[in-house]
Amino acid sequence: MGLVLSAPSGGGKSTLSRLLLERDTLLTMSVSLTTRPKRHGEEEGQDYYFVSQGEFIRQRDTGDLLEWAEVYGHHYGTPRRLVEALLAQGKDVLFDVDGQGMRQLRVSLQDNMVSIFMMPSTLRELKRRLEGRGVEKTTEMERRISAFSSQLATAEHYDYVVLNDDVETCYKQLHEILNAERKKRIRYHNLKEFIASM
Ligand code: ADP
Ligand code: 5GP
Repeated sequence: MGLVLSAPSGGGKSTLSRLLLERDTLLTMSVSLTTRPKRHGEEEGQDYYFVSQGEFIRQRDTGDLLEWAEVYGHHYGTPRRLVEALLAQGKDVLFDVDGQGMRQLRVSLQDNMVSIFMMPSTLRELKRRLEGRGVEKTTEMERRISAFSSQLATAEHYDYVVLNDDVETCYKQLHEILNAERKKRIRYHNLKEFIASM
Protein backbone atom coordinates (compact mmCIF):
# COMPACT_ATOMS: atom_id res chain seq x y z
CA MET A 1 0.00 0.00 0.00
CA GLY A 2 1.16 3.54 -0.68
CA LEU A 3 0.88 6.09 2.13
CA VAL A 4 0.97 9.70 0.92
CA LEU A 5 1.75 12.33 3.53
CA SER A 6 1.35 15.96 2.48
CA ALA A 7 1.36 19.34 4.22
CA PRO A 8 2.34 22.90 3.40
CA SER A 9 6.05 23.68 3.68
CA GLY A 10 7.00 23.58 7.37
CA GLY A 11 3.89 21.50 8.14
CA GLY A 12 5.83 18.59 9.65
CA LYS A 13 6.24 16.07 6.78
CA SER A 14 9.92 15.36 7.48
CA THR A 15 9.40 15.20 11.26
CA LEU A 16 6.45 12.82 11.12
CA SER A 17 7.92 10.73 8.27
CA ARG A 18 11.06 10.22 10.34
CA LEU A 19 9.00 9.03 13.33
CA LEU A 20 6.88 6.69 11.21
CA LEU A 21 9.95 5.15 9.57
CA GLU A 22 11.77 4.73 12.91
CA ARG A 23 8.80 3.09 14.62
CA ASP A 24 7.21 1.10 11.80
CA THR A 25 9.59 -1.41 10.28
CA LEU A 26 7.06 -2.38 7.59
CA LEU A 27 7.27 1.08 6.03
CA THR A 28 9.85 2.14 3.41
CA MET A 29 10.39 5.71 2.21
CA SER A 30 10.16 6.55 -1.46
CA VAL A 31 13.15 8.84 -2.01
CA SER A 32 12.37 11.44 -4.69
CA LEU A 33 14.50 13.07 -7.34
CA THR A 34 14.78 16.85 -7.17
CA THR A 35 16.47 19.69 -9.02
CA ARG A 36 16.44 21.95 -5.96
CA PRO A 37 19.79 22.62 -4.24
CA LYS A 38 20.70 20.43 -1.29
CA ARG A 39 20.01 22.02 2.11
CA HIS A 40 22.51 21.93 4.92
CA GLY A 41 22.23 18.56 6.64
CA GLU A 42 20.47 16.79 3.79
CA GLU A 43 21.97 13.59 2.43
CA GLU A 44 22.05 12.29 -1.10
CA GLY A 45 19.90 9.16 -1.40
CA GLN A 46 18.37 9.64 2.01
CA ASP A 47 16.46 12.93 1.72
CA TYR A 48 16.50 13.16 -2.08
CA TYR A 49 18.50 12.25 -5.14
CA PHE A 50 19.79 15.69 -6.14
CA VAL A 51 20.01 15.88 -9.93
CA SER A 52 20.55 18.45 -12.67
CA GLN A 53 17.65 19.71 -14.76
CA GLY A 54 19.01 17.70 -17.72
CA GLU A 55 19.12 14.45 -15.74
CA PHE A 56 15.62 15.05 -14.39
CA ILE A 57 14.21 15.58 -17.88
CA ARG A 58 16.05 12.51 -19.19
CA GLN A 59 14.51 10.30 -16.46
CA ARG A 60 11.08 11.87 -16.91
CA ASP A 61 11.13 11.38 -20.68
CA THR A 62 12.27 7.76 -20.47
CA GLY A 63 9.34 6.94 -18.16
CA ASP A 64 11.52 6.34 -15.08
CA LEU A 65 9.28 8.55 -12.92
CA LEU A 66 5.98 7.31 -11.49
CA GLU A 67 4.86 10.92 -11.07
CA TRP A 68 6.50 14.34 -11.19
CA ALA A 69 5.66 17.99 -10.58
CA GLU A 70 7.08 21.48 -10.43
CA VAL A 71 6.88 22.81 -6.86
CA TYR A 72 8.23 26.20 -5.69
CA GLY A 73 10.10 26.56 -9.02
CA HIS A 74 11.96 23.24 -8.80
CA HIS A 75 11.25 19.79 -10.24
CA TYR A 76 10.44 16.82 -8.03
CA GLY A 77 9.64 13.25 -9.04
CA THR A 78 9.15 9.72 -7.72
CA PRO A 79 11.46 7.05 -9.17
CA ARG A 80 9.28 4.26 -10.51
CA ARG A 81 11.35 1.10 -10.21
CA LEU A 82 11.86 0.71 -6.44
CA VAL A 83 8.30 1.74 -5.61
CA GLU A 84 6.80 -0.77 -8.01
CA ALA A 85 9.10 -3.54 -6.70
CA LEU A 86 8.19 -2.82 -3.06
CA LEU A 87 4.47 -2.65 -3.76
CA ALA A 88 4.62 -5.90 -5.76
CA GLN A 89 6.12 -7.55 -2.64
CA GLY A 90 3.15 -6.26 -0.61
CA LYS A 91 5.29 -3.71 1.28
CA ASP A 92 4.06 -0.28 2.39
CA VAL A 93 5.69 2.78 0.85
CA LEU A 94 5.65 6.29 2.32
CA PHE A 95 5.50 9.22 -0.13
CA ASP A 96 6.25 12.83 0.82
CA VAL A 97 4.72 14.51 -2.24
CA ASP A 98 2.48 17.51 -2.88
CA GLY A 99 -1.15 17.50 -4.05
CA GLN A 100 -0.17 17.14 -7.71
CA GLY A 101 1.90 14.08 -6.85
CA MET A 102 -0.88 12.60 -4.72
CA ARG A 103 -3.36 12.84 -7.58
CA GLN A 104 -0.97 11.23 -10.06
CA LEU A 105 -0.18 8.43 -7.59
CA ARG A 106 -3.88 7.79 -7.06
CA VAL A 107 -4.27 7.23 -10.82
CA SER A 108 -1.43 4.67 -10.74
CA LEU A 109 -2.06 2.97 -7.40
CA GLN A 110 -5.87 3.35 -7.19
CA ASP A 111 -7.20 1.48 -4.10
CA ASN A 112 -3.70 0.50 -3.06
CA MET A 113 -3.09 3.94 -1.61
CA VAL A 114 -4.17 6.14 1.30
CA SER A 115 -3.59 9.88 1.44
CA ILE A 116 -3.23 12.03 4.56
CA PHE A 117 -3.00 15.80 4.74
CA MET A 118 -1.39 17.29 7.84
CA MET A 119 -3.02 20.54 8.83
CA PRO A 120 -1.33 23.20 10.95
CA SER A 121 -3.32 24.57 13.91
CA THR A 122 -2.84 28.16 12.72
CA LEU A 123 -1.11 29.98 9.85
CA ARG A 124 0.95 31.91 12.37
CA GLU A 125 2.30 28.66 13.88
CA LEU A 126 3.00 27.24 10.39
CA LYS A 127 5.02 30.35 9.49
CA ARG A 128 6.85 30.15 12.81
CA ARG A 129 7.78 26.50 12.15
CA LEU A 130 8.89 27.20 8.59
CA GLU A 131 11.04 30.12 9.71
CA GLY A 132 12.29 28.12 12.70
CA ARG A 133 13.55 25.41 10.37
CA GLY A 134 15.89 28.12 9.13
CA VAL A 135 17.21 26.44 6.00
CA GLU A 136 15.67 28.58 3.30
CA LYS A 137 16.89 31.82 1.76
CA THR A 138 14.44 34.72 2.14
CA THR A 139 13.20 34.41 -1.46
CA GLU A 140 12.63 30.64 -1.08
CA MET A 141 10.85 31.26 2.22
CA GLU A 142 8.56 33.90 0.70
CA ARG A 143 7.75 31.58 -2.19
CA ARG A 144 6.71 28.89 0.30
CA ILE A 145 4.69 31.26 2.49
CA SER A 146 2.82 32.64 -0.52
CA ALA A 147 1.88 29.06 -1.47
CA PHE A 148 0.35 28.30 1.97
CA SER A 149 -3.25 28.96 0.95
CA SER A 150 -3.07 27.01 -2.32
CA GLN A 151 -1.37 24.11 -0.52
CA LEU A 152 -4.01 24.13 2.23
CA ALA A 153 -6.78 24.15 -0.38
CA THR A 154 -5.57 20.77 -1.71
CA ALA A 155 -6.56 19.17 1.64
CA GLU A 156 -10.08 18.57 0.33
CA HIS A 157 -8.76 15.93 -2.10
CA TYR A 158 -7.23 13.75 0.62
CA ASP A 159 -8.68 10.68 2.35
CA TYR A 160 -7.74 11.92 5.83
CA VAL A 161 -6.91 15.25 7.45
CA VAL A 162 -4.86 15.20 10.64
CA LEU A 163 -3.94 18.17 12.81
CA ASN A 164 -0.23 18.56 13.50
CA ASP A 165 -0.42 20.45 16.76
CA ASP A 166 1.50 18.19 19.12
CA VAL A 167 4.01 15.81 17.44
CA GLU A 168 3.21 12.69 19.45
CA THR A 169 -0.56 13.18 19.13
CA CYS A 170 -0.17 13.61 15.40
CA TYR A 171 2.05 10.52 15.18
CA LYS A 172 -0.53 8.47 17.11
CA GLN A 173 -3.26 9.47 14.66
CA LEU A 174 -1.13 8.65 11.62
CA HIS A 175 -0.25 5.28 13.18
CA GLU A 176 -3.93 4.51 13.84
CA ILE A 177 -4.91 5.36 10.26
CA LEU A 178 -2.10 3.24 8.85
CA ASN A 179 -3.02 0.24 10.98
CA ALA A 180 -6.73 0.51 10.22
CA GLU A 181 -6.01 0.83 6.49
CA ARG A 182 -3.81 -2.28 6.65
CA LYS A 183 -6.78 -4.23 8.00
CA LYS A 184 -9.15 -3.27 5.18
CA ARG A 185 -10.68 -6.30 3.53
CA ILE A 186 -9.51 -5.20 0.07
CA ARG A 187 -5.86 -5.49 1.26
CA TYR A 188 -6.30 -9.25 1.83
CA HIS A 189 -5.68 -10.79 -1.55
CA ASN A 190 -5.85 -14.43 -0.43
CA LEU A 191 -8.87 -14.25 1.86
CA LYS A 192 -10.85 -16.97 0.04
CA GLU A 193 -7.87 -19.31 0.00
CA PHE A 194 -7.21 -18.62 3.68
CA ILE A 195 -10.79 -19.46 4.62
CA ALA A 196 -10.79 -22.57 2.45
CA SER A 197 -7.63 -23.80 4.13
CA MET A 198 -9.04 -23.44 7.66
P1 ADP B 1 8.16 19.88 6.35
O1 ADP B 1 9.01 18.66 6.11
O2 ADP B 1 6.70 19.62 6.15
O3 ADP B 1 8.61 21.10 5.61
P2 ADP B 1 9.33 19.80 9.03
O4 ADP B 1 9.07 18.41 9.51
O5 ADP B 1 10.72 20.11 8.56
O6 ADP B 1 8.27 20.24 7.92
O7 ADP B 1 8.91 20.78 10.23
C1 ADP B 1 9.19 22.18 10.18
C2 ADP B 1 9.67 22.63 11.57
O8 ADP B 1 8.59 22.52 12.50
C3 ADP B 1 10.81 21.79 12.11
O9 ADP B 1 11.70 22.62 12.82
C4 ADP B 1 10.10 20.82 13.07
O10 ADP B 1 10.95 20.41 14.13
C5 ADP B 1 8.95 21.66 13.58
N1 ADP B 1 7.74 20.89 13.92
C6 ADP B 1 7.12 19.95 13.16
N2 ADP B 1 6.01 19.48 13.79
C7 ADP B 1 5.94 20.16 14.97
C8 ADP B 1 5.02 20.15 16.10
N3 ADP B 1 3.95 19.36 16.11
N4 ADP B 1 5.27 20.98 17.14
C9 ADP B 1 6.34 21.80 17.14
N5 ADP B 1 7.24 21.87 16.13
C10 ADP B 1 7.04 21.06 15.07
P1 5GP C 1 10.97 20.47 -0.06
O1 5GP C 1 11.74 21.28 -1.08
O2 5GP C 1 10.51 21.28 1.11
O3 5GP C 1 11.71 19.21 0.37
O4 5GP C 1 9.66 19.94 -0.78
C1 5GP C 1 8.82 20.85 -1.43
C2 5GP C 1 7.51 20.18 -1.81
O5 5GP C 1 7.74 19.20 -2.82
C3 5GP C 1 6.78 19.46 -0.67
O6 5GP C 1 5.40 19.80 -0.76
C4 5GP C 1 6.97 17.99 -0.98
O7 5GP C 1 5.92 17.20 -0.51
C5 5GP C 1 7.01 18.03 -2.51
N1 5GP C 1 7.70 16.87 -3.08
C6 5GP C 1 8.82 16.26 -2.65
N2 5GP C 1 9.12 15.21 -3.44
C7 5GP C 1 8.15 15.16 -4.38
C8 5GP C 1 7.90 14.27 -5.48
O8 5GP C 1 8.62 13.32 -5.77
N3 5GP C 1 6.80 14.54 -6.23
C9 5GP C 1 5.96 15.57 -5.96
N4 5GP C 1 4.90 15.73 -6.74
N5 5GP C 1 6.17 16.42 -4.93
C10 5GP C 1 7.25 16.21 -4.16
